[in-house]
Amino acid sequence: MLLSEVVDASREVGATRSRTAKTRVVAALLARAEPAECAVVASWLAGEPRQRKVGVGWRTLSSHAEPAPGTTTAEGSAPLDVVAVDALLDGLATTAGAGAAARRGALLDELFAPATADERSFLVRLLTGELRQGALEAVVLDAVAQASGAPAALVRRAAMLSGSLPTTAHAALNGGAEALEAVRLEVGRPVHPMLASPGGTLEDVLADAAQRALDVVVEPKLDGARIQVHLDRGADVPVRVWTRTLREVTDGLPEVAAQVLALPCETAVLDGETLALDDDGRPRPFQDTMSRFGSDEGSEVLLSPFFFDLLHLDGRDLLDEPLAARLVALDGLLAAPGHAPLRMPGARGASADEAAAVLERALADGHEGVVVKDLAAPYAAGRRGRAWQKVKPVHTLDLLVVGAEWGYGRRTGSLSNIHLAARDPGGGAPLVVGKTFKGMTDALLAWQTATFPGLATAEHRWGLELRPELVVEVAVDGAQRSTRYPGGVALRFARVLRYRPDKTADQADDVEAVRALLV
Ligand code: AMP
Repeated sequence: MLLSEVVDASREVGATRSRTAKTRVVAALLARAEPAECAVVASWLAGEPRQRKVGVGWRTLSSHAEPAPGTTTAEGSAPLDVVAVDALLDGLATTAGAGAAARRGALLDELFAPATADERSFLVRLLTGELRQGALEAVVLDAVAQASGAPAALVRRAAMLSGSLPTTAHAALNGGAEALEAVRLEVGRPVHPMLASPGGTLEDVLADAAQRALDVVVEPKLDGARIQVHLDRGADVPVRVWTRTLREVTDGLPEVAAQVLALPCETAVLDGETLALDDDGRPRPFQDTMSRFGSDEGSEVLLSPFFFDLLHLDGRDLLDEPLAARLVALDGLLAAPGHAPLRMPGARGASADEAAAVLERALADGHEGVVVKDLAAPYAAGRRGRAWQKVKPVHTLDLLVVGAEWGYGRRTGSLSNIHLAARDPGGGAPLVVGKTFKGMTDALLAWQTATFPGLATAEHRWGLELRPELVVEVAVDGAQRSTRYPGGVALRFARVLRYRPDKTADQADDVEAVRALLV
């Protein structure tokens, strides 16, 4: 398959807001791909190289992508094909050590020299992450189902269990439903975590559950970092830990590993939250927890793990069991004496009063709110469903920063007013829903000013347009209808609470979550 065919499909996908139309275009392309090309094409259309990162920044890319003055692009060269481009990207991703910059430069020239202007622009956007727009992954998974004839639920499940879209596309398109069914939870390979969706007030969420005749558990929502911990005593590294974005952090969290090693089992996959606590057990600021996940090697804060789900125990997969059964297994495992408490208890089958008491206690203890969970629901990742709903006292949204304006007055020289966008659930470009310069400390302003230029896709007199990659959590008073913003909705009084380095763009809230706040 030629690169130009993928570029044309990508353009078509971008040109329509209809999710059905996008899915159709992607499915048609995947159906034409050769067996060896499926994984690559699926990955590109979801906005990511198969290699995920190739280690080349925007400036280097654009300097190589710019045709030398006087040369005519692409004429006379053989057209680029998908497999050849993927092989060059492999080369880029694995080039390291002395002389790497020069070798990368040569590979980039090899990549761009035969490319047409459209192909260059596609490749630059692919490699800088600009094409990566959360919802696209869901569109591509649906298209994989369409093109392979396998049920969409089976495709999504394989993606959750393998943690990899290319692997899933390859299995579906080459081996059909049978190959997808063979994708199982493997201890030692992280699965995509189940997500919570923003709920309204506790009363609303409970009333909604009652109406649907659901039994729920109300658990404190800890304000830390999501961790997925795999224990396998037979493995070289018995305990391994991943973040919400499936980044491995095993080496960085020995104290978490030690606690899990003390559990009375041979194999387990645990899902939970880890956070830094004060001596009196109150959560320390979120930044203290995150300091253990960044490049700040010197951080000496200790983290405490708390688990709220169990996906596997001693050879038994629990993912498809209802939460009620998973919690019985989890409580049984964690009840063994001899280790620190690893569970923040919630209230099961709670009455409205008991649920309110859990929320009150959680807030009094310094936590964020509660998560209300359907006790009958299996563990399901990918889409934010209503099986887990989070309730917080203030409305907060996780939005994408897509632009920043130069400040004035005291903020002259700082990138200050940020443009906030929500994901388009149809897979289109993020939709701007507001701006804010509130809630920023001087340190945060300095960080923005230093960080944003590395994400710039265009420079203007007023400021920068940014690749939609950074997720920022804002508090808002609500939302109102707007004729000015493309999603038809604008935030009311947004202020920055913090950046969320633990979240990727596809985990930002979508415009429906913003519309849900319309008063
Ligand atoms: P948010 O980060 O606002 O999307 O809220 C969902 C996140 O809350 C999950 O991904 C977990 O990291 C975290 N969390 C904290 N406590 C719980 C809990 N008891 N159950 C599920 N998620 C929790």
